[in-house]
Amino acid sequence: MMIMDLTGKTALVTGASRGIGRATTLSLARAGAAVVINYSSNEAAAEAVKKEIEGFGGSALVVRADVSDYSQCENLIKSAVDHFKRIDILVNNAGITRDNLLARMKTEEWQEVIDTNLNGVYNCCRAILRPLLKQKSGGRIINVASVAGIHGNSGQANYAASKGGVIAFSKTLAKELGSRDITVNAVAPGFIETEMTDVLSDEMKEQVLSRIALGRLGKPQEVAEVILFLASSAGYITGQVISVDGNLSM
Ligand code: NAP
Repeated sequence: MMIMDLTGKTALVTGASRGIGRATTLSLARAGAAVVINYSSNEAAAEAVKKEIEGFGGSALVVRADVSDYSQCENLIKSAVDHFKRIDILVNNAGITRDNLLARMKTEEWQEVIDTNLNGVYNCCRAILRPLLKQKSGGRIINVASVAGIHGNSGQANYAASKGGVIAFSKTLAKELGSRDITVNAVAPGFIETEMTDVLSDEMKEQVLSRIALGRLGKPQEVAEVILFLASSAGYITGQVISVDGNLSM
């Protein structure tokens, strides 16, 4: 039986102010979880998510933290546990792109993407482990990777490497934490309608669309629903990568 009831659970979503993170946070809250809304710079957007959740009777806390900084991630987890007294679900969603062909890529573009997308996942997972293990009630970690991390994508060497790293990291953590009933999975979106893909030119979008079997971009909610499934009812799924890409061939 599918149970999507998260009443009594606390979920933390990084990069929850916009796009996939926002849709995921709203879905988790609608399923009954108390949610921690993390953002890095867009406070107004994060507060708007909180207001929407409180509007339907949910509980939410907004916490600013740059996931690329370990001590800020420690504070983020501490704020969550101090406020809600427990933590059960971590969705590592925060991510950025700095696209360029390798020949033109600046070291800062490489570093910034690795620091946010890969080190950010390490930072939050490392910081949550102690409180999660102390609770002794299992847990769910869902890391948002990308199809670029599976197939590679021209112009995204930094991004694809970061997301490939997230996938390998997730599989490893699944092995380390399985005995504690903590599942760790990755979701690999294809092209989803968010501000991240808004910046693509019409020509690029046409090219992408021609490679998607379903013939359209995905919606943030369609990724959120898979994350909700992994966070709630998928107790015997761990170490997996689930593509949500309309069958995109890179
Ligand atoms: P988005 O609309 O650009 O939103 C990015 C979110 O991440 C925002 O909430 C942003 O916060 C937050 N963020 C960025 N840097 C951060 C940092 N250093 N610390 C904390 N939060 C940070 O992106 P999206 O399209 O929803 O993407 C979400 C995830 O899905 C990313 O990991 C992305 O790589 C992955 N993904 C997206 C697509 C796609 O087609 N959209 C495809 C594959 C994978 P602020 O609002 O404060 O800036």
